[in-house]
Amino acid sequence: MSDAPLSASELSELTKGLNRLARNLWWSWNHEAQEVFNELSPRAWQNLYHNAVAILHEVSDYELQVRLQDPDFARRVRQALQKFDAYLQEPKTWGREHTPALLEKPVAYFSAEFGFHESLPIAAGGLGVLAGDHMKSASDLGLGLVGITLFYREGYFQQAINADNWQTEYYSLLNPRNLAMEQVFDARNEPLMGSVEIATSQVFFQVWRVNVGRCAVYLLDTNVAPNETQYRDLTRRVYGGDRTTRIMQEILLGIGGVRMLRALGIRPSVYHMNEGHSTFLTLELIREQLAAGKSFAGALAYAKAHCVFTTHTPVEAGHDRFDESLLLYTLGNFFKDMRVPTAELLALGRVKPDDKNEPFCMTVLALKASRSANAVSELHGQVSRRMWHPLFPEKTEDQVPIGHITNGVHILGWMKGPMRRFFMRKAGPAWEQEINAPAFWERMADPGFASDEEIWALRYNLRREMIEFARRRLLIQGHRLEQSDFIVYDRLLNMDALTIGFARRFATYKRAPLVFQQFEEIVKLTQDPSRPIQFVFAGKAHPRDDEGKKFIQHIIHLSKYSELQGHLIFLENYDIHVARQMVSGCDVWLNTPRRPLEASGTSGQKVSLYGGLNLSILDGWWREGYDGTNGFAIGGDSHPNSIAEQDRRDSENLFKVLTQEVIPCFYERDDTGIPRQWIARMRRAMVTLVPKFNTNRMVQDYAKKYYLA
Ligand SMILES: *Cc1c(COP(=O)(O)O)cnc(C)c1O
Repeated sequence: MSDAPLSASELSELTKGLNRLARNLWWSWNHEAQEVFNELSPRAWQNLYHNAVAILHEVSDYELQVRLQDPDFARRVRQALQKFDAYLQEPKTWGREHTPALLEKPVAYFSAEFGFHESLPIAAGGLGVLAGDHMKSASDLGLGLVGITLFYREGYFQQAINADNWQTEYYSLLNPRNLAMEQVFDARNEPLMGSVEIATSQVFFQVWRVNVGRCAVYLLDTNVAPNETQYRDLTRRVYGGDRTTRIMQEILLGIGGVRMLRALGIRPSVYHMNEGHSTFLTLELIREQLAAGKSFAGALAYAKAHCVFTTHTPVEAGHDRFDESLLLYTLGNFFKDMRVPTAELLALGRVKPDDKNEPFCMTVLALKASRSANAVSELHGQVSRRMWHPLFPEKTEDQVPIGHITNGVHILGWMKGPMRRFFMRKAGPAWEQEINAPAFWERMADPGFASDEEIWALRYNLRREMIEFARRRLLIQGHRLEQSDFIVYDRLLNMDALTIGFARRFATYKRAPLVFQQFEEIVKLTQDPSRPIQFVFAGKAHPRDDEGKKFIQHIIHLSKYSELQGHLIFLENYDIHVARQMVSGCDVWLNTPRRPLEASGTSGQKVSLYGGLNLSILDGWWREGYDGTNGFAIGGDSHPNSIAEQDRRDSENLFKVLTQEVIPCFYERDDTGIPRQWIARMRRAMVTLVPKFNTNRMVQDYAKKYYLA
């Protein structure tokens, strides 16, 4: 290609292309595309939190025109665009081959949160990240699937730790104009609007679309002029407000979501409820059928024939329940409109239909109005069947119709630079197309494919990136508290030490402080000059969970004022970006849930992409993933009934594995300084775990088992 100046039409084509590219989150799992935006303004790329749309606003049209006359840059833009267009137009997809019917009549995937990327913070935690990864894989597979959620203009809270080491929450306003989203218009080119009855009001919503590769996610937003302030604020925050806000958000998501699909002319073949928040959609389907003249039984049968449900929590309190009075207050008018005795509708949310005192449970409604239901790991399936057995008294526990599909992660979305360059070098330019094949990962067992030395070099590179990131973040954290001292922050953590990561929501059942129970011994381990260990922690507690906040406070306190100083850090504001740094940079990923309360867990799966090793209770996915060679297990495949006993045993076992297996394995070096056994485990982790615990496999399972009925 010649380096002649670009013509006006070539410039305009590339500019348009860049704008198209920025508004499709496909770039969030494609580095050539990210590099283009990074190159436009490296500083803004960092400061604007890797937001491609914001970068294009940061760089003037004139600058963009000028910059595109750099032939190298123009070539990179063109390559990214070609790759993007080839992806969008790919004629041979898994979906076209295996689920062509869904391309006409897609799956409508409802989720109260979606975590796609740090620049669009509308997820609270693992559920949202899973939904985001589900969409990305649906796109990669070419599956017919649309997402439905709410647009929370203040997103989920950001975490700042104050001088008392207490979590405080603040919110920043998201500007749709500056995000990878666009408003949806109707046939007359007016903003598409819809409405739902809530209490005595007609609540209106507008709709945004986020493009996720080949798929679209629609976000309902009640911040529109006709609504009173109370309802304009309904979609302000992820799980914001009290019970009333909660049920109203769920009415909007479920009932409003179905109405929006109708307005868009989308005719789903199946409605997938990702957790119970969207379950009211079944009532809207029933209402539609009644309005079309069906009997109540017929209408319920219709809903049942078209809905599938995934439950995500084995924690009793994790299932949404609402008092009858709240239901009648918010949905009374909607119920009246259905002309079915209200008692029959309320009974749909109760295990004992006639028990007036039993609150209305979203999970019960979902189970009664779905053709299939599933949990998110094998053990979680067992627990869920036991938990919901009372709903199916005529069946044995084993026959309770709740199956399981174990969660996964989107491989490319979680893979950062050094690992990508590694595979590019080892597997060649087609590596991204092959990444989902088990055979791709099997090669990691072969020293001829990648030597121990090379894998170790990669590990060091990743650990250093994470520690340098942590030091930068901690310096900023310290600045705010006027505790900044460059020297101190530049010495935090040791580049050579065995680095143990723990990051997740600070729900108390996850027992973040468990590892520090044997405090004196842990201090000794961190201070061992020849075999030191160190810890990196992060995570948010729910704003109303003071017990979780106490855990955070305790850990930060240890990091600042105990002998663990310099060997333990807590990173503020855990989100997708922090997660990506941590899962790539840690040697060991610690998980200590109180079994069996971890439904699946996914962060440990992200770690295995980098050959990081899990050190975890055999709960959730790890119970299926661990094979004795690919990481470490804390305790066995059972747990005592007493919680105190369980905590005591788990803490003992954790310490035992850490000192007898993990540390010796990591520090056993041969003459050349390489920990051969450790690297053998890293290889095993990549070979055995990644091909199973990814969303490509997971979405295929959903398609075969549940979407195609
Ligand atoms: C992956 C991820 C989670 C879920 O982690 P678990 O191990 O399931 O607790 C939560 N938050 C963020 C930001 C994540 O990236």
